[in-house]
Amino acid sequence: MQATFVISAVEKEQWPDSNLPEVVVVGRSNVGKSSFINALTNRKRLAYVGNTPGKTRLINFFDIDGTWMLVDVPGYGYARMSKEMLKKMGKMMEDYFSQREQLKLAIQLVDARHDPTNDDLDMIEYFKSLQMPILLVATKIDKIPKTKRVKALKNISQKLQLPLKNIYGISSTEKIGFDEVYQAIIHQIQ
Ligand code: GDP
Repeated sequence: MQATFVISAVEKEQWPDSNLPEVVVVGRSNVGKSSFINALTNRKRLAYVGNTPGKTRLINFFDIDGTWMLVDVPGYGYARMSKEMLKKMGKMMEDYFSQREQLKLAIQLVDARHDPTNDDLDMIEYFKSLQMPILLVATKIDKIPKTKRVKALKNISQKLQLPLKNIYGISSTEKIGFDEVYQAIIHQIQ
């Protein structure tokens, strides 16, 4: 997979002028979103891991193989952010989710070890209201013993009212689950 950074957009005017299908990755801060993007694209520093430099507050577009775009939006639920900042970011993301015609799929990340947060639930509800296809990725599955992984995914499936077959357990550190996620993405954007 060949991934190339395209642009960090603050406003709609900066969204790339392209017809490629787009796949957006969302999740709360620290869920492992940057690690997921880097592991999926086999790049070490495409997305920044474990810190919050300016760019993580923008919408980042990456061209994948010249055939689709991976879109990284700011993580939500970040405690140290001001209300003003939250409002600005919310508007920026909502504009993108609701107005971007080539947006074909939302990859929602949740932590495999925990019940989804209220923010996770709100996000899913919002995507459902837009009739956006959702691919659910449960991160850090390596932290759950192998025998308990299915149970953890079933719990998330039930809490989010999403079919178990649309939920993928992944580990960015152990590189588990990425082929399946990649296939699911390709299937959805074709
Ligand atoms: P982001 O804030 O959602 O972009 O999350 P990061 O990718 O920066 O990851 C947050 C923390 O979780 C970092 O310390 C990562 O090393 C760790 N992490 C991310 N993915 C995994 C994973 O699959 N397994 C484990 N064990 N740790 C992970």
